[in-house]
Amino acid sequence: MVPVITIDGPSGTGKGTIAGMVAEQLGWHCLDSGALYRVLGLTAQRRGIDLDAAGTLAELAASLPVTFTSDGRVLLAGEDVSDAIRTEAAGTAASRVAVHGPVRRRLLDWQRQAARPPGLVADGRDMGTVVFPQAQVKIFLDASPETRAMRRYKQLKEKGLDANLANLVEEIRLRDDRDRNRSVAPLKAAEDAFVLDTSPFSIEEVLDRVMKAVDA
Ligand code: C5P
Repeated sequence: MVPVITIDGPSGTGKGTIAGMVAEQLGWHCLDSGALYRVLGLTAQRRGIDLDAAGTLAELAASLPVTFTSDGRVLLAGEDVSDAIRTEAAGTAASRVAVHGPVRRRLLDWQRQAARPPGLVADGRDMGTVVFPQAQVKIFLDASPETRAMRRYKQLKEKGLDANLANLVEEIRLRDDRDRNRSVAPLKAAEDAFVLDTSPFSIEEVLDRVMKAVDA
């Protein structure tokens, strides 16, 4: 069986960055499952599909022409949407399409097929609980909403983009509520996950602790 490491947690905990670093250190593949939900949310909005229309969204999920390139870009029918899916609006749309069970079921196989030799590091919300329950190592990263909003704020500013800290805190709280309270695959740590509050740590310090858990 292909070895899998799962890294779950709410947005802004640095799990995407950590997953990329762990994958690079091990020479494994990396799955950013959030990008899949983001592409679906973006496509639905562009096509004027109601984000509450579970059946239509599930059909769209089954035929989504998305490609993840080896250099980390996300292509939608050939168009580079790597930046377009990173906006807060795309994150909110992603969390709205992600509440639907039929949508999540349609994306299951797609995600599981990412587990290819020599191994996979998968980040998201339900990697350890639903998609890869048999994973060898499960990590759950957390941090306070204020810490996460501040990290996002700095990232946006570094890119020269507009950012408002109070709005970011509010958006993060709303997205957390939706992700934690949905009836299908709610955001929570797997029972056998190594849980780490990243609030006091730099990315390097988090990576160090995660690699210790991976090597344990
Ligand atoms: O991780 P990211 O912030 O890119 O995810 C965007 C949204 O997609 C999350 O807020 C969540 O609602 C949804 N998501 C999910 N399950 C995953 C990954 C992301 O429900 N495995």
